Amino acid sequence: MQIIQKKTSEVESDWQKEIANAFKNPIHLLNYLKIDHAPFSEGVNASRLFPMMVPRFFAGLMQMHEPADPLLKQVLPVKDEFLSVDGFTTDPLKENNHANDGVVHKYKNRVLLILKGGCAINCRYCFRRHFPYQQHHLNRALLLKALNKIESDPNIDEIILSGGDPLMANDQTLNFVVSAIEEMSNIKRIRFHTRLPVVLPSRITTGLLNTLHTSRMTISIVLHINHPNEISESLQIKCKALARRGVRLFNQAVLLKDINDSAAIQMKLNETLFESGIQPYYLHMFDKVKGASHFCVSEQTSKRIMRNVVANQSGYMVPKLVLEEPGRESKTWIDIYAD
Ligand SMILES: *Cc1c(COP(=O)(O)O)cnc(C)c1O
Ligand code: SF4
Repeated sequence: MQIIQKKTSEVESDWQKEIANAFKNPIHLLNYLKIDHAPFSEGVNASRLFPMMVPRFFAGLMQMHEPADPLLKQVLPVKDEFLSVDGFTTDPLKENNHANDGVVHKYKNRVLLILKGGCAINCRYCFRRHFPYQQHHLNRALLLKALNKIESDPNIDEIILSGGDPLMANDQTLNFVVSAIEEMSNIKRIRFHTRLPVVLPSRITTGLLNTLHTSRMTISIVLHINHPNEISESLQIKCKALARRGVRLFNQAVLLKDINDSAAIQMKLNETLFESGIQPYYLHMFDKVKGASHFCVSEQTSKRIMRNVVANQSGYMVPKLVLEEPGRESKTWIDIYAD
């Protein structure tokens, strides 16, 4: 008799297969959601400006028959992406000036490494939708070169692994990177900026949990969740597993028109995050990237929403409203009481 071994934990290849099977054609996604595609037909071509990419797990969190679903609106190419609007540019944060062989060092004590170019999901409002990742992505040789340079700067005590999405790198690579950083005497903390656990909770594999658990570093994960509907039970289970291993969990969201631009949704998001062990950290005002002007919420509206939130919710679960401005030494904190 043949003994079939029962699978007891996620294996590496599961999430990679899910990425390979992601929706890449807007019509297929709309068919799956049983939404008439006629009103969206002009938008389909916008996937040429920035490819569509939606894991089936994330599509499973969307409502059927609902063209205005807040998760769908974040990922479906639409015709407004062809609009040219004054002030909306391809590199709103002027990152191209700062990115050097996969390293973005804008703030004094922390440096961002572009570990992997791609993401598991393509968010239409992404401020890096025009970013030339091919030129900046780190291979092992470049990574070691970057780490050597970082080690010689005593001001730096934290490394941020970013992308694209750093968890697109496989477990073996991440283990290598974390081990290499552990050798650096100036570095105390490692931070991941990732959306992958949200759109594919299976990415939090046993192997990754082990790497994070055994590290001498203080490890944080800053998730990217914009709407409470993105917080699935599977994600909550993975967050618990991470927290048990000493990983600190934060969230950054982007304020997006007709998706999460109300005090009620922001409060629900904050509360659901908090109950899931994730600390709300930043709420970003929109970065003016070309092709995404239809997502922009005005400064006045953003402030009004936040005034309403702070008046109704415990202070510790309210994120800071911030804006990223080129040339500043940190994110800019927005004074929500100033007109
Ligand atoms: C946002 C950002 C950071 C992190 O800033 P925090 O305020 O510490 O979260 C670091 N480097 C770059 C280039 C950034 O854009
Ligand atoms: S996950 Fe982040 S980096 Fe990737 S497309 Fe979305 S917003 Fe952009």
